[in-house]
Amino acid sequence: MKRKGIKRWLYSGWLLICLVLIFAACGRGNLKNEKLNEEGAKESSLDEELVKVEPGNCITDQGVLFYDDILHFYDFQTKTFYPLCGRPNCTHRDEECTAVWLRNSFFVAIYKDSLYYVRYVEEQGFNCFCKAEISGEGETVIAEVPEYGMLGGSGVLFYGDKAYLMGTRFEYEDPEEDGTEETVWQIVSLLSMNLQSGEIEPIMELTLGDNGSAIWTIEHIYDGKLYFCFDSSETKTEYEPGWYTCDLESDELKCLEISEDLEVSAWDGNIAICQEQSVDPVLNDEDPKTEKHCFRWNLDTGELEELYTFHLSGPHVLLENGYAHGEWKEGYHEGSWSFYPWDTGEDREIGTFTDSQSFFPVVVYQSGDDYEIVGDGTREDENGRIIDCHAVISVEEFLNGGTGYRFLE
Ligand SMILES: [Zn+2]
Repeated sequence: MKRKGIKRWLYSGWLLICLVLIFAACGRGNLKNEKLNEEGAKESSLDEELVKVEPGNCITDQGVLFYDDILHFYDFQTKTFYPLCGRPNCTHRDEECTAVWLRNSFFVAIYKDSLYYVRYVEEQGFNCFCKAEISGEGETVIAEVPEYGMLGGSGVLFYGDKAYLMGTRFEYEDPEEDGTEETVWQIVSLLSMNLQSGEIEPIMELTLGDNGSAIWTIEHIYDGKLYFCFDSSETKTEYEPGWYTCDLESDELKCLEISEDLEVSAWDGNIAICQEQSVDPVLNDEDPKTEKHCFRWNLDTGELEELYTFHLSGPHVLLENGYAHGEWKEGYHEGSWSFYPWDTGEDREIGTFTDSQSFFPVVVYQSGDDYEIVGDGTREDENGRIIDCHAVISVEEFLNGGTGYRFLE
């Protein structure tokens, strides 16, 4: 399937959008790992039905939306990086520019050829879940959500006709007659929101005291199931901390025998890479030489296969034939990359990284015959200052320890 860049859509109108919608409908529910295109090359495994919003970006099958000082989009097909704005000759400085005003919204996602976001409406004092055209025009409010004082958590997943996110409601007990003793309860929930009707339904919900906390890490959807991790500061809740699935057809919840101490660092179809949580040895008085373990989780069988051990976990990326992982040296000023190939399992070092030039892969994508990694990082500018950046490197060069990063500006 050939896809066009988002920027071209901004100018090009409906025919293309309709075509893409038809393709999206054909691909419903199918992860495309095994799908071959006409040339016989393996297609990107990114699923156009599944879009993930993380704290710094939104990953789609067409590119990555970065939440910088303004919104930028990196387009996989055209390999270009540009503000999310369709106004000709725009300088992207005033509030009329989509890339500027949308930066003040939360969880901005590109999903099925529309923008979705949560916007705080100051006059009304609550959040709205909104939809607009890719250009930012034509906003419609899908749902007003005054009851949820907080929305979000670690991220949002878009899949099918729903978004999955965390919400918190605050309830106040009636004050005593003298006006004191107001007790606050928090009702924290993992929610699904219907993107057409705005209907919100809790998947899992619990009531906590005013000091309690709970978090759902909403990670992945595979084979009709939502995968998430639940953890709470309160020791006695009706749910055990740990990994769960929710069947999206039947709403059935299942607690998996996988500890909440395992955090997932990469997902692709039926494979997840998870690691024992790496703590900061300075803050937590932990011996930095403590060995941690990394596993490959097969979602079809539920098995965890141990891959390798590490001391201080660094960046990581799931590639087609294996897994590349970084490990920090004590003090975090330098580290090294290694590659763990699935077939031999012989971990080999592929390069080193330093404070001044670091690279944190966000996603691997295929464009033509090339596989490339796009990520966040730091580099030195012409004055020797260390600045944040986004960068792209080919998988081939990356695995050979090369430093030919293309900086996105
Ligand atoms: Zn603009």
